[in-house]
Amino acid sequence: MPKKRFTEEERKQRLREAVKRYRLAHPERVQEQRRRWRERNVDAEYRKQQAEKRMQIRHANPEEARAKVRLDYHKHRDERLVRMRQYRLDNLARLTAKKKEYYAANREVILERRKLEKFKPYYKEMRRRNSKAQQDRLREQMIAAYGGKCACCGEDKPEFMTLDHTDGRGSHHRREVGHAVYRILRRAGWPTDKYRLLCMNCNWAMGLRGYCPHQQVGGATFAIGVAA
Ligand SMILES: [Zn+2]
Ligand SMILES: [Zn+2]
Repeated sequence: MPKKRFTEEERKQRLREAVKRYRLAHPERVQEQRRRWRERNVDAEYRKQQAEKRMQIRHANPEEARAKVRLDYHKHRDERLVRMRQYRLDNLARLTAKKKEYYAANREVILERRKLEKFKPYYKEMRRRNSKAQQDRLREQMIAAYGGKCACCGEDKPEFMTLDHTDGRGSHHRREVGHAVYRILRRAGWPTDKYRLLCMNCNWAMGLRGYCPHQQVGGATFAIGVAA
């Protein structure tokens, strides 16, 4: 069988496909080649000129440029947010250190700026968010320190957990001030002699009736033991 002869058009088509396959198979090689080509052929001055040109176009049509930026932003918004969040998580220690360094170096300016009327709502919101996050962390620590589940029924959903003061009535007030107590207890190393974790149901029953129906067997009522 004679060797198949390709037409000129077919030959070009095959070549294009081969190039495409190569690009897909070795993206890093292609990238490296491109980089080297740019290095050889596109010097810094040329790049600067191009940037300048783009800038001029942007300045000539500010509306259009803004619209384009906005469009691009919305087009990739979700993936971008995911990427940013991941980046933040991956570099948390470094970013926090950087932030602290910046604050230390610019403390006066920052504090002065916070007093500006237009920033007030922003900083108010920030304070609220921070203190909420702090309280959530503290509560998490409290729940973990006291065993993570209700001492009566074993319920373990954190949303249901309450701190029970086993001394009885004196606890009412302290339960209300919540996070101040958590802080005091944390400082004391989470003492278990007078405190335990109860779910809201069991705590409510204990407060109201002095016993929890979970502990009633055949009409008899038992007190719940304090966790050692
Ligand atoms: Zn319970
Ligand atoms: Zn119970």
